[in-house]
Amino acid sequence: MTALPPGSTIGILGGGQLGRMLAMAAARLGFRSHIYAPESDSPAFEVAAAHTIATYEDETQLAAFADAIDVATYEFENIPVATVEFLGRHVPVRPGAKALACAQDRLNEKTLARELGAMTAEFAAIDSFAALEKTLDSGFSIPSVLKTRRFGYDGKGQAKILTREDAREAWAAMRNAPSIIESFVDFRAEVSVVAARSADGTFAAFDVTENEHRDHILHRSLAPARLAPDVADEAIATAHKIAERLDYVGVFAIEFFVVNQDDRDRLFINEMAPRVHNSGHWTIDGAMTSQFEQHIRAVAGWPLGSTELKAAGAEMINLIGDDILAWQSLAAEPGVFFHHYGKKDVRPGRKMGHINRLLMEMPS
Ligand code: AMP
Repeated sequence: MTALPPGSTIGILGGGQLGRMLAMAAARLGFRSHIYAPESDSPAFEVAAAHTIATYEDETQLAAFADAIDVATYEFENIPVATVEFLGRHVPVRPGAKALACAQDRLNEKTLARELGAMTAEFAAIDSFAALEKTLDSGFSIPSVLKTRRFGYDGKGQAKILTREDAREAWAAMRNAPSIIESFVDFRAEVSVVAARSADGTFAAFDVTENEHRDHILHRSLAPARLAPDVADEAIATAHKIAERLDYVGVFAIEFFVVNQDDRDRLFINEMAPRVHNSGHWTIDGAMTSQFEQHIRAVAGWPLGSTELKAAGAEMINLIGDDILAWQSLAAEPGVFFHHYGKKDVRPGRKMGHINRLLMEMPS
């Protein structure tokens, strides 16, 4: 694959903060970005050379978009696979439809993880209340979590089953969507691998990141994760295998639960994101190459950049909802790298920005 020269146009499906940060990284390398998103107030529009406001089903607009760009990528995984396939007939789309189709469905994701020899929570497909009852009757462990197979994020589309009596309400919360039941994993930590694969198969991972959630939303990331080196290596090796299997091109994230069993940490795959990821935001200030630049490099056919940390460690704290109102004091704090996504409406639970810090030593 020949490298796209500066001046080429990167098409990005999705106009949220991830698209915005991708466009900013692309601009630094001399690229133009064209954002395609249905929402007229998309935060990415303000930092891109061009944008299209249209639905992902609008083939006239998609064809015009394809004509205006040199490569297409996406910043969120709920883009219809048909959209990516349509664009793929006109222009290269990276990562491809295969990776997107796998990552959109929790059942496919977990099945692939098991095929590659990785551990996951025990799971079963659930398509009806009768199927849920049958699965529980046959001894599926409780507590467990029922999740929609598709379109879930930040804990949405999930219901806990703590006792057998919760089953009916949990199924009602799925609103008849094809679902998956997972046994509850008693984890001691959550970690993620953010990594990139280029079209020629080169693979580069950032340091494994430790993630703390509040109300199902990522609150803080710390890199490197406090893991034994062999466990961190295993997480990265698993990510590498998944990327190879999916012919992946671009940045992706794999989230794991860390479970302490017999005094040893074991990794259980929770899910995959076929895109840049919130737990990789620390790389903007903390790594030699940010995850956003790395993704642009991969989709443009450039060599991948160094993933080395710039300090002993780095941390990221998300600014959710009203947290952003403290922008003045955060911006004044020495050593704080302040990032604002330019969203106009502050809403509870909405990701409004984040801060990064470099750490001279790691917390114990
Ligand atoms: P998910 O949307 O699958 O990433 O789930 C959101 C969060 O819910 C995870 O980061 C965990 O904190 C929690 N969670 C999800 N699945 C499980 C599980 N099987 N066992 C324990 N906690 C879970």
